[in-house]
Parts: sequence; structure tokens; C-alpha cells
Amino acid sequence: MIAYLEHFVHDNNDSIEQESSQISMDLEGTIDYRSTGYAAKDFGGLHSSSPLAVVKPSGHHDIVSVIKFASQSPNLTVAARGNGHSINGQSMSRNGIVIDMKSFSSNSSEPLIVMCNGDDGYAVDVNGGALWEDVLIQCVTKGLSPRSWTDYLGLTVGGTLSNAGVSGQTFRYGPQTSNVTELEVVTGNGDTVICSDGQNSDLFFSVLGGLGQFGIITRARVIVQPAPDMVRWIRVVYSEFSEFTQDAEWLITREEGESFDYVEGFVFVNSDDPVNGWPSVVLDPDQFYDPTRSESPVLYCLEVALHYSKGNCSSTVDSKVEKLLGQLGFMDDTLFQVDLTYVDFLLRVKQAEIQAKANGIWDAPHPWLNLFVSKSSIEDFDRSFFKKILKDGIGGPMLVYPILRTKWDERTSVVLPEGDIFYIVALLRFTNPYQKSTCVRDLVLQNHDILQVCVRNGFDFKLYLPHYNNEDGWKQHFGDRWSWFVEMKSRYDPMAILAPGQKIFERQRS
Ligand code: FAD
Repeated sequence: MIAYLEHFVHDNNDSIEQESSQISMDLEGTIDYRSTGYAAKDFGGLHSSSPLAVVKPSGHHDIVSVIKFASQSPNLTVAARGNGHSINGQSMSRNGIVIDMKSFSSNSSEPLIVMCNGDDGYAVDVNGGALWEDVLIQCVTKGLSPRSWTDYLGLTVGGTLSNAGVSGQTFRYGPQTSNVTELEVVTGNGDTVICSDGQNSDLFFSVLGGLGQFGIITRARVIVQPAPDMVRWIRVVYSEFSEFTQDAEWLITREEGESFDYVEGFVFVNSDDPVNGWPSVVLDPDQFYDPTRSESPVLYCLEVALHYSKGNCSSTVDSKVEKLLGQLGFMDDTLFQVDLTYVDFLLRVKQAEIQAKANGIWDAPHPWLNLFVSKSSIEDFDRSFFKKILKDGIGGPMLVYPILRTKWDERTSVVLPEGDIFYIVALLRFTNPYQKSTCVRDLVLQNHDILQVCVRNGFDFKLYLPHYNNEDGWKQHFGDRWSWFVEMKSRYDPMAILAPGQKIFERQRS
């Protein structure tokens, strides 16, 4: 299929003029100029930018064609869209071309995963547009599983690798960006490059956490290991933040085999509010809780999980769990636990998604804020925010859990706060679909205020899933990595064609 697009040029007033000449691109997949509405939106629901066209590639060749095509135009940009689960328009391309990576995965004639020998054991080659939930299902049929996950798996491989990909396994294996050994990337120059630690390593490390700036990930080699059958999923509650952090940090610094396999945590309101309070802690609706047991307005839930195989007798699992829990200082009678399959555990957020879709809050705006906050600042963060302006809850989870810096490869594009331990803080706000838009704006402003207070008080933190509207913001974010980031951009996408929704670089006119 030969697709033609006119040249489009922005004049100084940002209106669009059409140039007379046409350029063409040779596609095996499809290009759609009309049904592009979904690509103008994202999960955040805060921004909208319509593309000129959406390409559904049928193979890698189409991605090369689109990028080469854009590079011949004066000003077209190209955004890979994973599942559009960004918050701030990062996967959009205003008047440019969006490549629908999910359809790249589903249209591909290649199998979704291909077994291969990794450097240190098993690995699978995975399509960059695949959803992690599909990767899970396919791997488990072979008795295998990736080691490092996100909480929610309706995200694409290329989308999370462009950020980091964190969850309760990160303390042990590092983020998802630490769990791939090779990538196939189509750069902004239109070249297809295989890269790894040992081959084209500057591209490999810049693409990991690189916010889509250097190339489109078409394939990733993901480390896998034997999949466990079952999981004991456990939550316990603390009234003191210092005791919660002490126990969480103790768990994440223990050797494998002497701790749980998953460690997370969240803050909740000491009330029976169904969304923000105790009902968000119980793992089974029949489990009993007593909000009067503590006078603290907010409490802290440590969430852990232990993997086991069906062959393990339950007393072995019970005794390992009891031994570990016995060393923690949570409040009496606040132990909630269930056993479930490994797949059900990893897909646990899917149930929440189904419910949220049914009551409309999945599609309402999500002014989320994600941060990495250093251990040195986390108590102040708790005092300034969880105990004050967030004490009544945010209509969704407020995650806070520690991870180890040593598990991150600092050669990637992800930037971290100082210190050996830092916390993931995620304010995952859900809003009422019938709420006035001013309420959503207030929440965006509240996020902004939180960041201002963090800066004013000298907290050591970095934005995760960062978004800034000007170069100064990005310079500050990257700190001494900025000049390297700019150098990689000039090497791999010198015309700044890729991922314009991140608002880092201006498209260079050709
Ligand atoms: P998109 O939002 O579509 O794209 C994100 C960026 O990556 C864009 O700039 C895009 O152009 C670029 N991109 C997309 N695909 C590619 C590719 N193949 N190659 C190069 N660049 C590409 N994150 C966590 O770390 N842990 C979590 O537990 C977690 N849970 C989440 C739960 C929900 C409900 C949501 C909405 C998000 C969650 N996230 C989590 C955030 C998530 O990692 C990011 O939103 C990420 O962008 C992945 O989403 P996506 O695949 O839809 O990518």
C-alpha cells in the first residue's frame, strides 16, 4: 500500500498550511486519517492532541517507512503509542503520525514470544508492542516468567522500558529496564539497530528509560525464570510511619530466600471509607477490621507476597511466612492474607480495572503524580503530605515503598535521587466522571504545589514518568546527565522526530 501525505507546515500562529508537494510511504499495514480520536487521548485525560494519521504497522518494515517518510517532510513528528497509558500526553503527536504499537504486536506474523538463551540463563524475545499481560500468559504456558513487573499489566513492553517499569519485585531484580539484555530499535534516523551491553551499548542504555527519544523498540530480550505456581499475598498495618519504613527496608535488604518475593506498601485513611479506608486493605470482603484500634488519621499498609509451588505443603509455607512476619512490628490483629495462583496475583489490578470501567472512573481524568523520594526525605514527605494535605485520601491508592539503588543500572536514561535506598511514591488519583473540570484542575495544582514544597524544602527526589513543559525543567531533571542525553539525541534522532509528546526537544525543520 502506498500512502500519500501532504506536507504540513506550521506558520508562526501555529495554524497549519499545506504544501503542494506530496511524499509517499510504502506500507504493508494500514494508515488511517479519520479514526484517530483514540490516539489524541491518553489515560491521564488531561491533554489532547490530534495526529494527522495513525499507522497500524504490519511489520517492522512499516516503522522504518514511517520514520523515513517523516524525515523527508519539513516538520512531521512520529509517536509510538503503546497502550496510551501515559498521563501527560507523552504518546501523542500533534499533527504528526502515531504508530499504534499494540497493533504492531497483534499484526505481526512472528510469535509473541520466542525462547532464546540469555547470557545468564533463559530469556524470551518479545515484540515491543506486546502487552505485558499477554507476555505473562504465553510465558507461563512454557513454565516461565519474567522476573520484574509493573503492578498493572495492560501496558506495553516498549512503553514501560521507555520509563523504567517498577513494582514489588524491583527491590530484588531492579526495574524492568534492568531485566532486558538486548533490544531491536528503529532509530530516528530510520536505521534498525540491535543493541545490548556489548553491542551499540550507547543506544541500548539511552533507549532504556529514554522516554522514546532515540528510537522505537520493536523487540526486547527479556530475562525469564521458572514461574512459581502460587502466591501467599499478605497485608499488615502500621500506625507509625517510622516502624513501617523500618520493616519495609529490613525486608528489601535481606538475601533472596530470607525475605518475601514482593514488597510494596501504601498509605490509607483510618476510616471505613470504601475507597480510601480499611476496605482498601482487606484482601477478602469477609475479613474483619477495626478502625477504632488506632487514633492516627492515616495508617500504613505493608504488602508482601511469597511465591511457592503446588508441591510445597501448606505447613512449610505457613512456617516461612510466620517466621518472617514474626520479625515485623505491625499492629496486632491486622494481618490479612490469601492464597492465589501466580497469574491471578500478577493480574490483580485487572479486577479493579473491570470495576472502574463499569462505574466510569477508568475513563475519567487521572491527575497522577509519581516520584522517587530518597530515604533521607521520606519521613519529611510523610509529615508534609500524607499526614496533612493528603490525609483524607485521594480516591485511589497512595503507594509508598522502598527500593535499592544497587539494582538499577545507572548507565540507562533513568535518573534517580541520591542514597542507596529510595521510595516510590505514587499518588494514583481517580476522579468522579461527573465532577467539574475545575476539580481536576485543582488536583493538578495540588500536584504542582507538592512538587514546589519538595523543592523549597530541599527534598531529594526525582519525578518518575517525568513531564516538564520547558527545557529548564528537563535540564534540572537530568542534572549532570543532560549533556549526555542531548548528545544521544543528536546521534540517534537529530531531527527530533520521535516522541514529541514528551516536550523535550523541538522538531528540527529539514
Ligand atoms: P504509552 O503511554 O503509550 O507511551 C509512553 C511513552 O513511551 C511515549 O513517549 C511513547 O511514545 C513511548 N513508547 C511507547 N512505545 C514505545 C516503543 N515501543 N518504543 C519506544 N518508545 C515507545 N508504571 C510502572 O512502572 N509500574 C506500575 O505499576 C505502573 N502501573 C500503571 C498502572 C496504570 C493503570 C497506568 C495507567 C500506568 C501505570 N504505570 C506503571 C505507568 C506506565 O509504565 C506508563 O504509563 C508507560 O508509559 C506505559 O504505558 P504504555 O505502554 O501505554 O505506553
